[in-house]
Amino acid sequence: MSKEDYYSLLGVSKEASGEEIKKAYRKKAVQYHPDKNPGNKEAEEKFKKISEAYEVLQDAEKRSAYDRFGHAAFDPRGAGAANHGGFSGGGFHDPFDVFREVFGAGGRGGSVFESFFGGGGDPHGPQSGADLRYDLEITLEEAANGVEKEVIYSRAVACSHCSGEGAEPGSSKKTCTTCKGRGQVVASRGFFSMQQTCPTCQGAGVIIEKPCKQCRGEGRVAERSKVKVKIPAGVKTGSKLRSANGGEAGVHNGPYGDLYIVLYVKEHEFFERHGDDLFCEIAIKFTLAVLGGTLEVPTLHGKASLKIPEGTQSGTTFRLKGSGMSILHASHKGDQLIRVNVEVPQKLTKEQRRILESFAKACGDIDSKGGIKGLFERLKK
Ligand SMILES: [Zn+2]
Ligand SMILES: [Zn+2]
Repeated sequence: MSKEDYYSLLGVSKEASGEEIKKAYRKKAVQYHPDKNPGNKEAEEKFKKISEAYEVLQDAEKRSAYDRFGHAAFDPRGAGAANHGGFSGGGFHDPFDVFREVFGAGGRGGSVFESFFGGGGDPHGPQSGADLRYDLEITLEEAANGVEKEVIYSRAVACSHCSGEGAEPGSSKKTCTTCKGRGQVVASRGFFSMQQTCPTCQGAGVIIEKPCKQCRGEGRVAERSKVKVKIPAGVKTGSKLRSANGGEAGVHNGPYGDLYIVLYVKEHEFFERHGDDLFCEIAIKFTLAVLGGTLEVPTLHGKASLKIPEGTQSGTTFRLKGSGMSILHASHKGDQLIRVNVEVPQKLTKEQRRILESFAKACGDIDSKGGIKGLFERLKK
């Protein structure tokens, strides 16, 4: 099966800038992310493909190799690999790592490419686990009043059977003889000679005699984790909460990364948020506008009464002080702005009509033919 072109996978042109590629990937990654499409195999496949495309196109060196050799550049048996030293260090890794990196969280886990080009750092020391990001949608009421939520997500945790060591309890570890514990070997490929992750110990520097039965020697296992988050009143879309050590377990018993919860406040059907203020529109009866009175209005914190003065015009905006959004880490609140629209009755009973006509007469609004004077006539007068 021929592979799809990386540029068309991301929907960008061959001339696209790094920023355009990042933007296009972000958009597609959010759309096809498995968390958004649970159980959808097609979306998962697509997510993997676009992640693979992004991993190549975001890197200038890999991108230029791809432009010259196409997919053969990353095929260990292909001609392209032989010509430029190859990127055959094991194909593509977990697409979620790419996803994490593009969102700026983590990336410390180290990628296949990173270690191939010698950027991996100390191979046997413990490495911090990746930070994770979780997008959480909340309502405007929850943002205004604060709320406690439970988040359930997948992550790698230290294996409890081997305490993250990777070795079956009671068994021992030996120094790797291939790399003598260095985790790296020197590989020659044509003119090139470069450091490569040791193929025997995969960079660990040690060989586990009896891998742990639970984690097959990885030291980490996948788990569904639960975390309770207290969302303070006054948060906005884009507000971030950090759950320390809520990320992934580190490799070789390294420390956990953090979990970042990014909030999205849903739009409200009645209130519009303008910073700390809330805006809404309410229809009022024309009698209330003419005669004045009090109006009960909903707020995000319960009901409030609003005084409508006599002779209120349609479109007038009133301000309810302190009925708006809570302000993060402050004791006061924003205001609620209420625009009133005067409702004209659409159907009158005979009785109502008679009364209104006599009201019109009293105002001098009836012309000689018995009709109601229009604005034009009133202007003439
Ligand atoms: Zn284990
Ligand atoms: Zn080794």
